[in-house]
Amino acid sequence: MDKILSQADWFERAKAVLPGGGFGNFDPTMFIRDGKGSRVWDENGKEYVDFLIGSGPMLLGHGHPEVLEAVAEQLPNGMTFFANNAAGVELAEEICRAVPCADQIRYVSSGGEADMYAIRLARAFTGRDKVVKFEGGYHGMSAEAQMSLAPSRMVNFPQAVPDSAGIPESVRAEMLIAPFNDPDFIRSLLAEHGDEVAAIIVEPLQRIIPPAPGFLQLLRDEADKYGIVLIFDEVVTGFRFSYGGAQELYGVTPDVATLGKVIGGGFPLAAIAGRADIMAHFDKATVGADKWLMQLGTLSGNPVAAVAGLKTMEVLRRDGAYDQLRANGQRLMDMAGAALSEQGIAHQIVGDPTLFEIVFADTQPRDYRDVFNADTAQGAKFNAVLMHEGIFKAPGKTYPSLALTEADFELTGKAYKVAAAALA
Ligand code: PLP
Repeated sequence: MDKILSQADWFERAKAVLPGGGFGNFDPTMFIRDGKGSRVWDENGKEYVDFLIGSGPMLLGHGHPEVLEAVAEQLPNGMTFFANNAAGVELAEEICRAVPCADQIRYVSSGGEADMYAIRLARAFTGRDKVVKFEGGYHGMSAEAQMSLAPSRMVNFPQAVPDSAGIPESVRAEMLIAPFNDPDFIRSLLAEHGDEVAAIIVEPLQRIIPPAPGFLQLLRDEADKYGIVLIFDEVVTGFRFSYGGAQELYGVTPDVATLGKVIGGGFPLAAIAGRADIMAHFDKATVGADKWLMQLGTLSGNPVAAVAGLKTMEVLRRDGAYDQLRANGQRLMDMAGAALSEQGIAHQIVGDPTLFEIVFADTQPRDYRDVFNADTAQGAKFNAVLMHEGIFKAPGKTYPSLALTEADFELTGKAYKVAAAALA
């Protein structure tokens, strides 16, 4: 019989073939063996309630029976074609029905790719180069997105700080970095540079920080004033905050949105969605060779991902799904808040019930620097105790799923109490 390998054994093997022993995403000493419903198991056999849910896609939980059935039906009929297929068209139709800004969509395989092309699309449409991005905003791994994503050195706005080696200096010169939730800064930045700016790219709820009332509308108004393409990165918020995403929830429609995670039902699929006249730049026949944005990808519109996404969205359309998801998240937020208040620990529960985190600070954060200056050591300790108590989550986020059960709430409530007591 084969020896059963522990996490430590797997990590030894991984170190030989993967830089840093991992995929780059998560603590590389952690190996997930199985996911079922609301739970995951590691390679040591330890069970957890899953609040990472694949970094967002598994909103229905792992192995949802209807999604499994849809995928199983598709598999024998073909896994990828590189050609148009009916499932991909049906998914595009459903996204265009659901998402206010989506007249048309273009598929890619990951959220980061969608963001990269959305920025290029805005440049193709406007003929301008500069991009406004918010400090701390996450838009994947392109050169532009890797500007002031997680700086540890604070510089004056709108200067950009690259997060990665290997990015040409010339990219930095095209980026204008702004603080999230600061209307005055945006107004004065665009008063100076508005005519040079192709795009404002923003997470409508930045990581965990909600937009201040009126902030997204201000971005809409300023973008209109200067002919700038407003891009909402809805890779996380799409089909999570509501069926129509954050743009529906907050009532502000961007020109272009990027989508990923939920729309692929756990498979690699993402999309750029937007206004028809902007999306036309993906079509050489409509805009001509000079204004055409060349874009293709082997897995684009993959039929397995498309049927998984379609089925996931069908389940989400059912009565009460979003009420349930919000209720699940609110219950967790309340439990965490009560556990910490009971111990007299200063904290803020930040975000939306569908996506939140506990920040150890005296006031609600409004931007990246507020989160950066919070007590991150306390946050790390809190998370380590949660992990020990069987709560699986990312360091900076808690993602509730629709699969959570009473037993999960009970276990999580207990874990919050133990973690809060450990900080007292
Ligand atoms: N945009 C946002 C807001 C994200 O949170 C992420 C990933 O977490 C991405 C883009 C990148 O998506 P992907 O990891 O699929 O490239």
